[in-house]
Amino acid sequence: MPQLDLMTSLAIETFAHSIQAVFLLGFAALLMYYHKYYQRDYLGYWAFACFAFGPGEIIRAFLAGSAMVVPESALSWSSGLQGIALTCQYLAISFIALGASCAAFNKKPQNYWQYIAYGVSLVGGIISYFWLDPTISDAGNTPNAGFMRFLVTGVALVAISLLMWRKLGSGIGPKLVSGGFFSIGFKNLIVLSVIFSLPGNAVDWALSFQALLNIIIIAAIIVGIIIWLLESERNTAVRAIQRAEYLHTHDALTGVSNRDQLVSKIPLFIEYCRSNNRQLTIMLVGVSRFKVVNENIGIRGGDQVLKEIARRLQNFRKQPLAVSRISGDVFALAFDHLKSRSLIKDLAAELQDTLSNPIEVGDKTLNIAAGIGIARYPQHGSRSEVLLNKATIALTQAKQSHQPSVTVYERGMDEMYSYLVDMEPILRRAMQENEFTLYLQPQFDFDHQQLCGFEALIRWQHPKRGLLSPAEFLPYIEQLGLSTELDDWVLNNAAAILASWKQKFGLCWPIAVNLSAPQFQHFQLIEKMQQLLEDYEISPEWLELEITENVAMSDLHNGMSVIQRLREMGFGISIDDFGTGHSSLAYLRSLPINKIKIDRSFVSELQQNNNDVTILKAMIRLSHGLGKRVIAEGIETQEQQDMLQKLGCDMMQGYFYSPPMRLQFAEQFIERQIQGDKKPLPPGEFATAF
Ligand code: C2E
Ligand code: CA
Ligand code: CA
Repeated sequence: MPQLDLMTSLAIETFAHSIQAVFLLGFAALLMYYHKYYQRDYLGYWAFACFAFGPGEIIRAFLAGSAMVVPESALSWSSGLQGIALTCQYLAISFIALGASCAAFNKKPQNYWQYIAYGVSLVGGIISYFWLDPTISDAGNTPNAGFMRFLVTGVALVAISLLMWRKLGSGIGPKLVSGGFFSIGFKNLIVLSVIFSLPGNAVDWALSFQALLNIIIIAAIIVGIIIWLLESERNTAVRAIQRAEYLHTHDALTGVSNRDQLVSKIPLFIEYCRSNNRQLTIMLVGVSRFKVVNENIGIRGGDQVLKEIARRLQNFRKQPLAVSRISGDVFALAFDHLKSRSLIKDLAAELQDTLSNPIEVGDKTLNIAAGIGIARYPQHGSRSEVLLNKATIALTQAKQSHQPSVTVYERGMDEMYSYLVDMEPILRRAMQENEFTLYLQPQFDFDHQQLCGFEALIRWQHPKRGLLSPAEFLPYIEQLGLSTELDDWVLNNAAAILASWKQKFGLCWPIAVNLSAPQFQHFQLIEKMQQLLEDYEISPEWLELEITENVAMSDLHNGMSVIQRLREMGFGISIDDFGTGHSSLAYLRSLPINKIKIDRSFVSELQQNNNDVTILKAMIRLSHGLGKRVIAEGIETQEQQDMLQKLGCDMMQGYFYSPPMRLQFAEQFIERQIQGDKKPLPPGEFATAF
């Protein structure tokens, strides 16, 4: 190895350090720009690393250069400058480490790590300055600053590069960068071993050569970072495209496919079924009264319920060909193995069972019921939209009844469905335009032989079809989910009538209002009733709420506490159509109501059916025993009236006494009562202990 003279060696060093300094400062500016533009934290740290490295290299270039001009003066101030250069270098290593951890773990290191890194760098610099000989020569004998520089940077960079290699993905960019760090670190360790083992001449060569090598490696790292950025930008774009594609075909909330995806898949299923002689069954599963679920537990809770339903459908025992959410609360399943109608119905019933298991949402437990509508290929059509439409029609039918059922599409259902679709805007308009009116049917008290109240019964004054009875429009109101709106309207109107009576007569005869199931189950019913009392300044005992037995029983626990609250507020509660449900007598004891209303069917059968007389007698006796009053409805003849009175019935309502009538006639009725010196019966007479 030729002897490297001092001047050449210093010239190479000056050149290499100057180039590195320019490189590093330029690189720092570039990284800072990338950091601002791409918002990657690790770029920020590495920009600082370059800013820190730069001055260190300037100092080294300056020291080497000045040693060429005035060799003897160099040592007098070099140790101070070397100390600063080393501090800068340790700081740079700290920044590289912080940036690497940021990139590897994809999050900014905690603040205390940053402080530790800065502290260690500073302490390293101070130690180098005070205790270590700044020269490198004769390094084998005493540890000096140069020795420490190569050792610390070598070990740190190798460790950092190994961490990055392991943690960062397979891209070329990260590999090039970690490879670059590794090369510098490894090179520093080699230089260290050269310092230890080879003669001074070789050390001079190694030191000069390594400085030049640094430039090449730093250039490689710059290229690596640029490739890395481009790669990660591309990955982000690819991920965004994939996400968009996913959302295009999937439901973002539940992860199952969406309607579009199902529509495009059905033709493939049909093709498969056609060539394998199979039948395709499309089942639409609709959650019953999902609006009420949402109102009760909030939209987020509702989302949880939908997710759980999707999960149960996906894990269903008979793996469907597809599970899809086609609208808010409707899921679709496709099966290809169901041959007979009975198999289909069994499977649908099993599905209903699966969904009826309680769902936990937060601290609440929910029981949902689902209706199922079914359409099949080839029987009902061979196009996606046709099959889905027919299944939707069947589902509408399935959800009609209080207890949702399983319905297979049949001819003729279409007309009913399109009628329903046409009805919606008409009904909404009727509500807005106040086309509904309340008729009042008087009720008669046997003991006091006088009027004891009214039942409010709704009528629709249709602009073309004249006066319509509830049977002609209530089913549509129910199916369209407008029951609570209609009931609110009735409650407000009944309250307004009571308020006007208070003004007009100074007295009020109670009015009974029918509550639909959704209204009774509405989570804000209590608040609504409270508001009603305040808005119209009426007394709660003037309003009686009629709920049917099945509605009161359907959710016994909640139902019971709602009734209890309403009773505590002072409202009268009566069980309508009593005797037609399943559980009447058994549960009568536990319901905190104050009145039962014996169904019309018992009354009309009275004369023919002795059995009914016995049952009626038992009902009335039991009710009285429990402190509840009994009213019979639908009394049309003198005989019926006499018989019921004999059986101990307290009140009656029916055409025999009076049909439902317009408000003005009801008021005339009241006026006659007042003229006959009859007053409303005191509430105590109604609200017997419960
Ligand atoms: P409901 O609660 O059982 O009401 C009694 C029904 O029997 C009324 O029919 C009434 O007009 C009728 N009625 C009264 N006396 C006699 C009688 O002596 N003989 C016969 N055959 N019928 C009699 P309407 O008004 O057609 O109401 C039918 C059903 O519609 C009601 O049955 C109730 O379930 C529902 N409904 C009526 N108005 C409302 C309302 O404002 N809100 C709600 N949610 N439902 C209502
Ligand atoms: Ca009623
Ligand atoms: Ca009734």
